[in-house]
Amino acid sequence: MHQLQETVMKSAGFSSAVSHYEEALTQYFPGSRTSRDFVDYSLRTLSPFGFQPNNAMVCASVCRDELTRPFINNIHEVWGRLFNFSSLAGMLYLGVTGFKAAHHHAPNSEGTERYVYFAFPHIAIDENGVPGNCRRPGRHEMSHACGALLNVLQDLSEGSVGLELNQDDLEQSLLKQRLFRKLRDGEIPDLVTLTKIAHSVIREDLERMIQLTVDSSAVPYAVFTGIQIHGPGNRTWIWASAPYVVAEGARENLPH
Ligand SMILES: [Zn+2]
Repeated sequence: MHQLQETVMKSAGFSSAVSHYEEALTQYFPGSRTSRDFVDYSLRTLSPFGFQPNNAMVCASVCRDELTRPFINNIHEVWGRLFNFSSLAGMLYLGVTGFKAAHHHAPNSEGTERYVYFAFPHIAIDENGVPGNCRRPGRHEMSHACGALLNVLQDLSEGSVGLELNQDDLEQSLLKQRLFRKLRDGEIPDLVTLTKIAHSVIREDLERMIQLTVDSSAVPYAVFTGIQIHGPGNRTWIWASAPYVVAEGARENLPH
């Protein structure tokens, strides 16, 4: 068996209890909705706060994987513009310089800028409800997502715990550094758990970068984070985690 396939199967040790994609989606990511529904909701829920496609800059981070493209396309269709924050696994490595660049491109003809952030790591779930498995058009064998997170799991299972920054593998070594810090000694999570840990790291990083680059008393912004799920038939679902908007310095949780 291919090594990556083995890692997927191990990480899905409970898969026999889940026979179908829908059951798995409900079990692991309750309340998920389709990608387009979610993006439509983001605009609908922000409209009362003055956000519109012609006055807001959308900043989005997803994994580099081509499977994430439909979600990015949905965001672009609905919001009209998008600054790409993406790295492997959806991590935010662009730093203060990248955030400031996006902000400096935002429309400001109404006297204020507005930012909408989307940050979503991803996972596949196949027709049998197995997390990590997916089928890619044009490829015979079962494929996997997120490959970067599965590589971290493989390193963990092999006891490969070196955390040096690899100049020839910058994003993956940074990912490993950030995730390993969140795990207890000897802990090897399943893929769903690791994806949720990646989400927490990304949300923390996003909020730290916002703190460093946004004057929240003057600039309204909104935060949407969660997990993108690739299901059978290349359909994309979105599980959202506690979205919120900050307007006039006050934070308000958004219904979802
Ligand atoms: Zn990925």
